[in-house]
Amino acid sequence: MSKYVRMIIIETGPALFEIECGEEVCRDGGYNLSWEILGALHRGNPKFEGEETCRGQIGSAECGRILHYRGSASYRSSPLGPLA
Ligand SMILES: [Zn+2]
Repeated sequence: MSKYVRMIIIETGPALFEIECGEEVCRDGGYNLSWEILGALHRGNPKFEGEETCRGQIGSAECGRILHYRGSASYRSSPLGPLA
């Protein structure tokens, strides 16, 4: 399993977190973690993890590769607080 480590600095939204599928023959594959990650950041979670299934296709079958992700976030002195 390949491992990616990404350092992402988010000043203001919107941010996209898209990761390509590791399967070479996969068509239109990839993972979109934007909602999961932005949701975690919005709640101020220091750590979050989960998994996402590839939405691409291999031939006439679904790719279905699963990406496990784990993230940790650090916040500046003025963190994204809950919207008042
Ligand atoms: Zn795929």
